[in-house]
Amino acid sequence: MKILITGGCGFLGSNMVKKIFNETSDKIVVVDNLSTGFKSNIEPLLCERVEFYELDICNSDIINCIKDWEIDYIYNFACPASPKYYLKHPIETWESSVFGIKNLLDAIKGTNIKLFHSSTSEVYGDAQTIPQNEEYWGNVNPIGVRACYDEGKRAAEALIYDYIREYNIDVRVARLFNTYGPNMSIEDGRIISNFVTQALTGKNITVHGNGMQTRSFCYVDDTINAIYKLMHLEKNPKKPVNIGNPQEKTVKEVALYVKDVLKSNSEIVYCEKMSDDPQKRRPNIERAKQLLDWEPMISYDAGMKKTIIYFSDKLK
Ligand code: UDP
Repeated sequence: MKILITGGCGFLGSNMVKKIFNETSDKIVVVDNLSTGFKSNIEPLLCERVEFYELDICNSDIINCIKDWEIDYIYNFACPASPKYYLKHPIETWESSVFGIKNLLDAIKGTNIKLFHSSTSEVYGDAQTIPQNEEYWGNVNPIGVRACYDEGKRAAEALIYDYIREYNIDVRVARLFNTYGPNMSIEDGRIISNFVTQALTGKNITVHGNGMQTRSFCYVDDTINAIYKLMHLEKNPKKPVNIGNPQEKTVKEVALYVKDVLKSNSEIVYCEKMSDDPQKRRPNIERAKQLLDWEPMISYDAGMKKTIIYFSDKLK
């Protein structure tokens, strides 16, 4: 089989490259525009079986490339996913969310290529229901600063299900809840990468707002295993699947945990709250459990310890 991984130099994409490289004999084509991904994440794996092309999925050349490369499966991870980045680059975020997926959908129209698309818990916005299940329609500020990502990903889902209804193509969609682990970038700006690197370097641990907002953290290997299972389910469920770990933590709890486990002298400081920041996020994963016979296996403590080792090595 020949697998295309778009956004394959990013955090999730490079972890999928690693899994497919280690566990199959498939050929892999990695495409990335290197806006937030790093070629170094896949460099050790580049060989006859793993090729890399610097290309943006918004560029319609990707449509012919997919035909020329004779691809069987596509995993789409191409999109900036960190608020720090997408708040600075909203238009680019829109483009990769919407124009990028449209190119991939046009490429697979009339073929048997299967496409996985990574959507996000951000489609639920500042959810009014806890935990969030897939039937919830969300609570998103459509003109706010996060809309480039939230509405971009919602538009992508709308487009995907229109293409499925109109062209009967095989696209599978997961809504990913906060994932963390190796291959996150130090500069990424998200909570785990910030708090761990701040605690390791003795800088202030920067809690936004009062720290009572929550997230539920899933270790990357669990997320990647679920995505792989979803892609290989015999029958397309034709509905999005939440993938995450329901262990819910407040931001303050994460700060205290990181400071404690690293015995860090860093101070926990409280700064300005992010605009439109979702206050409570926890996935209902019943659909994933039933469809995929999957549930997260790696505890918060075990996952955080592996992540701390990764960042400590990286900072050296
Ligand atoms: N956050 C924080 N300090 C940081 C980075 C993030 O308090 O240095 C908070 C952020 O405001 C949000 C939560 O942590 O409430 C998760 O943020 P992240 O950027 O990791 O991901 P999100 O789930 O918002 O996309």
